[in-house]
Amino acid sequence: MSIAQHLEEVRQRIAKAAHDVSRDASSVMLLAVSKTFPAEDVRAAFDAGQRVFGENYVQEGIAKIAALADLRSGIEWHFIGPLQSNKIKVVAEQFDWVHSIDRLKIAKRLSAQRPDSTLALNVCIQVNVSGEASKSGVEPDEAAALAHAVAALPGLRLRGLMAIPEPVETLDDQRVPHARMRELMDALRADGLDLDTLSIGMSADLEAAVLEGATMVRIGTAIFGARTYTH
Ligand SMILES: *Cc1c(COP(=O)(O)O)cnc(C)c1O
Repeated sequence: MSIAQHLEEVRQRIAKAAHDVSRDASSVMLLAVSKTFPAEDVRAAFDAGQRVFGENYVQEGIAKIAALADLRSGIEWHFIGPLQSNKIKVVAEQFDWVHSIDRLKIAKRLSAQRPDSTLALNVCIQVNVSGEASKSGVEPDEAAALAHAVAALPGLRLRGLMAIPEPVETLDDQRVPHARMRELMDALRADGLDLDTLSIGMSADLEAAVLEGATMVRIGTAIFGARTYTH
């Protein structure tokens, strides 16, 4: 199947899950995660109507943004991977969104490095919702303090929360961490933060995420196929 056909299939999965909970499918943004796939695949997805793309690795993402410079004004680029302090400047300059904020130090540097000539960088706080020791993300009970501090930074615009839950098999089990994220987001809003983005759900659990209120799903494998190399 082509990338265009895969994209259509993913859009239909989102639409069906949204319909099941009486949500408008347009309230769920599809972020196509193109990490490890070449610029030509991003172009094929673009030609099939996809406009929002996510990358995990700074060098690879920057190279792809450069290779697709002719499409730059039509594409929104999201950085979704772990951020090291020595790569902050290019991310602040080149990307439109960062989903993986889990330390104030990194957020402050992104804010300081965001060029004055561009809009504020959209960011999400990454939450370690499954409590795995190896995963990045702030602990759920520390999210509020970090969110308030990030919201005050002039170069950033805090949009919401992101999580990568531990993979589990059944729909019911998949819904548990997503529901926890929705509750956390609701609590932060009740606390005065103006948030509109819940970035949860990947290829294997997008239905569970949409059922629980995801406003953005990050889909790689189901669009571009299995990844054949790792960094
Ligand atoms: C790779 C990745 C995805 C996409 O995962 P798939 O299972 O291939 O859909 C989503 N979010 C993050 C943060 C990723 O690193």
